[in-house]
Amino acid sequence: MTAATHTPRVFSGIKPSGGLTLGNYLGAIKRFVDMQGQDYETIYCVVDLHAITVWQDPAELKHATREVAAGFLASGIDPTKSILFNQAAVPQHAELGWIFNCVARVGWMNRMTQFKDKAGKNAEKVSLGLYAYPSLMAADILLYHATHVPVGEDQKQHVELTRDIATKFNNDFKAENFFPLCEPIIEGPATRVMNLRDGSKKMSKSGESDMERINMTDDADTIAKKFKKAKTDPEPLPETLDGLSERPEARNLVNIYAALADMTNETVIAEFGGEGWGKFKPALADLAVEKLAPISGEMKRLMDDPAEIDRLLLQGADRAKEIAEPILQQTYDIVGLLRGR
Ligand code: ATP
Ligand code: MG
Repeated sequence: MTAATHTPRVFSGIKPSGGLTLGNYLGAIKRFVDMQGQDYETIYCVVDLHAITVWQDPAELKHATREVAAGFLASGIDPTKSILFNQAAVPQHAELGWIFNCVARVGWMNRMTQFKDKAGKNAEKVSLGLYAYPSLMAADILLYHATHVPVGEDQKQHVELTRDIATKFNNDFKAENFFPLCEPIIEGPATRVMNLRDGSKKMSKSGESDMERINMTDDADTIAKKFKKAKTDPEPLPETLDGLSERPEARNLVNIYAALADMTNETVIAEFGGEGWGKFKPALADLAVEKLAPISGEMKRLMDDPAEIDRLLLQGADRAKEIAEPILQQTYDIVGLLRGR
């Protein structure tokens, strides 16, 4: 049996480790919305247990958790069409995460590039949770027997590790096809939105400088200023797509434009080829404001009523548990653990 024989089910998540960025929107949330109402069940999660793998101020964490939920809702995730919840409200994630810590191998974890990037030179001082993060992520996905995982390019390696964990579990316990071999879905022109000040690094919520990213809640002036100051080279935009291959910053801005406008990169180049940045950057800023302003306005409105967000998340958690609990119980049985239920 392959993933195709399991119920088609999408799972993905976003960490409340700061404010949402344009990278999160284009690489993840916008695509989550597109997959909603297609031939999948869609399950989207605010992965707060992942956020605490690095220090989070407790009050800010609660705020960020609600804000990420507000970002999902404002972008078009409909809680009647998708299951939307936060990870801490469904303890089955942590339970399966522990089992997967005992399935995953240290050698596998040592190959994870995200850990190397995030730990940097400080690898001895980071939390054990940061190191084990990918096995909890595997649990998030496999707890629902999810078959498809829409993510940005940076998460591809973790989804592949999830498949390795599923395969090893199924083999070790002779539980053929119990966990599906999920597929990463990495599509569109903005699978890796880059940092506006350094085209070799991805845009991240937790990046050092606010000028390197567009936040979903930035106002029009801030967005215009950040694109104006975005690093580029002095050349005008090329006449063909090939002309972007050695120009990471230019390529990034074209990718962002294409993703925001639902166009291909070719169309953007056809429209702006030969133009200078003085024309392209303001057009990009206008487009970003046009797309983000309604979302940030709606996020603000939702954040005025945090109790309502909490209520929606809790409802989602109840629905998530209905799927997760029998799968977790079966997992315990397969492993030979007496869970007492
Ligand atoms: P952090 O810096 O805390 O890791 P992040 O911005 O990388 O935050 P995550 O919560 O780690 O955000 O990732 C959530 C989703 O957004 C994932 O699917 C990830 O692949 C996607 N994503 C994150 N950054 C980008 C980006 N720059 N371009 C495209 N997709 C992205
Ligand atoms: Mg990240």
